[in-house]
Amino acid sequence: MRNYASARNDFVKVVEVGPRDGLQNEKKILPTEVKVDFINRLSITGLSSIEVTSFVSPKWIPQMADNTQVYEQIEKKSDVSYPVLVPNFKGLESAVRAGVKEIAVFTAASEAFSKTNINCTIKESIEKATLVIEEAKKHNIKIRGYVSCIVGCPYEGETKPKITAYLASTLLDLGCYEVSLGDTIGVGTPTKIELVLNELLHVSSRNMSHYALHCHDTFGQALVNIYTGLEKGIRVFDSSVAGLGGCPYAAGASGNVATEDLLYLLEGQGLETGVDFNKIVEIGDYISKYLGRLNQSKVGVAVLAKQNHPKC
Ligand SMILES: [Zn+2]
Repeated sequence: MRNYASARNDFVKVVEVGPRDGLQNEKKILPTEVKVDFINRLSITGLSSIEVTSFVSPKWIPQMADNTQVYEQIEKKSDVSYPVLVPNFKGLESAVRAGVKEIAVFTAASEAFSKTNINCTIKESIEKATLVIEEAKKHNIKIRGYVSCIVGCPYEGETKPKITAYLASTLLDLGCYEVSLGDTIGVGTPTKIELVLNELLHVSSRNMSHYALHCHDTFGQALVNIYTGLEKGIRVFDSSVAGLGGCPYAAGASGNVATEDLLYLLEGQGLETGVDFNKIVEIGDYISKYLGRLNQSKVGVAVLAKQNHPKC
C-alpha cells in the first residue's frame, strides 16, 4: 500500500453532487426551502464544491424545476463553488440570468445512451457542448465537463475506453478545467476503470490532475473503483451525501457513492479533504429522514447507530 501522506499530493477534493445528481433521481420532490436549507448546511462543512441544481427543462426533470429559485436563495460562501448542470444553450441562458459562476456540461460515451437521454448523437452532443462552452466563456463562467457511461450503458452494454478518452480530451480542449468521468450505472470494476484511465494517458499528454471520478454504487463497486482512481493519481471524486439518488434504470438501486463512505476511506488512507466528517454524517441523517428513505451510507448508518447505542 502506497503511503499517500508522504506523496505530497495528499489533498483530495470532494465534489458534493447530492443536491443535483442525488435529488434528481429521488422520487420525492423536495420543497425549494428544504433544498436551500440542505445546500446551506453542506456549505459549512468544508466542502469546496457543491453541484446545486440543473438548468434542464422541467418536462424532463421535474425535481429541478425550481433551479433559479434554489440558485438565487442559497447563501453563497466565497470559498465554495456552486456549479449547475447545463444541458443546452437555453439552460445556459437561464443560468446566466441567475448569476451562475460555474456550469457543468455533459456528453456520454455511448451512442444509444446519448440518443435516449440527450436526444442526440455523440457528435451532436459535442456540438451542443461547444456552443454552451463558447458562450459561457464570454460570461467568465467556469466550465466542468462530464463524460457519462465510461464503462457501460444500459442499452449498449460495455462502452469503449477510446470513446471516453476522445470525449474527455475534446472537452478539455474546448475549455473545461476538469472532466469528471462517470460510471453512471455503477457497472465498473477496478480493472475496467483502470483501462479507461490508461486510455486517457495514452491519447493525451495530460496527467490525472485534469480528471475526476464519479462513481455510482449500483453494484457495490464504487469504493474499490475510487481506490483504483487514487492509485492512478486521481485527486477529485464526486459523491452524494447519504448516497442520495439511485439509478433511473434499476428501481431501488444505490445512487452515487455516499460522501460519508468516501470521506471514511480517504481519511483512513491518511488523505486530507478539509471536510467535517461528523457534519456530513448529520446532514446525511437529516436529508434521509426528510426524504423518508434509507440512508445508503454504510459508514453513516454505523456512526449514527454508535451514537445512539454507545455500548455497541
Ligand atoms: Zn451520477
